[in-house]
Amino acid sequence: MSPLMVLTSLSITDIEAGNSLPRGTVMFDSHCHLGDVSESKEALRRAARAGVRSVLCCGYDGASNERVLALRKELPNLAVAIGLHPWFAQQAIDPVVAAIRREQPSAIGEIGLERSERYGLPAPATQRHVFEIQLQLAAELKLPVTVHSFGAISLVLEVVAAFPNVRGALHAYAGSLEQVKVLLNRGWKVGLGGSVTRAGARRIRRLACALPLDAILLETDCPSMAVGTRPAAEVRPEHLVEVADCLAILRGISVDSLVEQTNASARELFGANVVDSTHLG
Ligand SMILES: [Zn+2]
Repeated sequence: MSPLMVLTSLSITDIEAGNSLPRGTVMFDSHCHLGDVSESKEALRRAARAGVRSVLCCGYDGASNERVLALRKELPNLAVAIGLHPWFAQQAIDPVVAAIRREQPSAIGEIGLERSERYGLPAPATQRHVFEIQLQLAAELKLPVTVHSFGAISLVLEVVAAFPNVRGALHAYAGSLEQVKVLLNRGWKVGLGGSVTRAGARRIRRLACALPLDAILLETDCPSMAVGTRPAAEVRPEHLVEVADCLAILRGISVDSLVEQTNASARELFGANVVDSTHLG
């Protein structure tokens, strides 16, 4: 298949028939929302069996932050991020700041900015205020961030430029490589997920091939992003394997080397937390 054919026509069936992870491989789902999944422990058990033994479990508002912290109580090795997402920027930021200080999460997130027609989206100034408070906190506590930038990448770059010591991941980024080069040079990463598995997703697949390998993190954003033909609501961290298989085929490299590099990047940024399956019984 020519590179262009791969970019446009690779389907989930090709992926399932393609590479498969070697036994003993450990993968890192760098952005998911297991607090939104009713059977989160079972999902983690299945993920561990599939080789996805590390996850960064993200909250996004007061209630979801509480849920991921409760999950961490049961699974002490679970890496969690807590923060206030731009959709919920009208909620009180002070309790979120207090929780971040008290709970010592692995990262602050999901935070960021959105510019879209989404109904009820908080005002730009409110979003920016809340984002800046959390970036300031990340700088002070030396914590990485996981950032939502839908429709707002230029603005995210502008705001983040004022926090040169903060590093993080642009989760579900779908813009161009050119735009984010400045952040990559500062050690930021780009999270790629289920959208690379969609045949016809040419733009995101171009980005996925153009990014330096050491700039990529793998993520599912479960249960908010489809993988192949599987609807978002059914996606769990175990399906990260399909994202890795697809990306390895797109880039023409072995899934082994892709997993090794993306894992190293995720661990370097977020820490080496591993969900120990003995806690899942
Ligand atoms: Zn998310």
